[in-house]
Amino acid sequence: SDSDTADEAVRATCDDASTCKRFATSKAYWKDPYIQYFVRQIGERKAPEINRGYYARVHGMNHLLDAFLKKTGCDCQVVNLGAGLDTTFWRLKDEKNLPRKFFEVDFPTIVARKIHHIKTKPPLSKPLIETHSTDSLLLDGHSLDSDRYCIIGADLRDLPNLEDKLRKFQINPELPTLFLSECVLVYMTPEQSSKLVQWAADTFHTAMFINYEQVNMADRFGQVMIENLQRRQCNLAGVDVCQSLESQRERFLMTGWDGVNALDMMSIYSMLPQEDVARIEQLEFLDEKELLHQLLQHYSICWATKDKLNLGLSQVAF
Ligand code: SAM
Repeated sequence: SDSDTADEAVRATCDDASTCKRFATSKAYWKDPYIQYFVRQIGERKAPEINRGYYARVHGMNHLLDAFLKKTGCDCQVVNLGAGLDTTFWRLKDEKNLPRKFFEVDFPTIVARKIHHIKTKPPLSKPLIETHSTDSLLLDGHSLDSDRYCIIGADLRDLPNLEDKLRKFQINPELPTLFLSECVLVYMTPEQSSKLVQWAADTFHTAMFINYEQVNMADRFGQVMIENLQRRQCNLAGVDVCQSLESQRERFLMTGWDGVNALDMMSIYSMLPQEDVARIEQLEFLDEKELLHQLLQHYSICWATKDKLNLGLSQVAF
């Protein structure tokens, strides 16, 4: 059906993200020794502004994630929604900064592929075994559950099923919990993403939600971005051309979150450690600064908190 085609195109976006990250890391924008095991080929060259955009995206998300881990002293859980082939678990393991448990959710077909990579590549499976206390690690074609890392195949638009599966794998509503969604909510209708965000607020009393996605799409540049996605028959249910930083904040304020911040990626790029920004700006010559600025102004990070345990989550910022 049309909707199956659209969902298939959405699943393909996880390859896009990983391929771009693989390329940027091959140019030393940042280090990721694990992505090569999910995406073997470096692939064709990406434009410098794309690489800088991914640099801002990865560093922006990592900055907030690491700040949450610090506030909670790692006595917390992380749930990466629409995780795709993300490698954050392995980074945190190497940095000795793992939460009590790291959950990932994606469509079952993506999950099956990811599990296959993990099973067949020792650099990916070794950290799971090392952080597991018994010999009962669950690892079959469709699910993987260990003490510290778990992948769940589920559709984020089906909340009862999502909650069932998270509970089956021992998510604890009493623990501070961080939700990540990086380029994911845009593929759902505004109603579906609001319900997801609401469910998170209703289920966890101390939590943070970090969402990265497109913003300010009403102008000419935004139109071109949308046309590019539509050409690939993506289900763009969530592309609301009127989505502004204000409406990003509103989605969380209307669904039970207490503190909400939103910044476009141009602001975030200017707040990242400037020494490292200077370093990456030397990597590839970029003639058209204006193009980078346009691109960065069309993406945002919105982060929301609720904090019954008074951990100071509302202070997490750049
Ligand atoms: N978050 C990863 C990253 O930034 O590298 C992957 C981003 S990719 C653009 C979007 C991911 O969201 C895909 O892996 C896709 O399968 C997943 N996704 C989108 N809609 C979903 C849904 N309804 N249920 C589960 N996963 C979904």
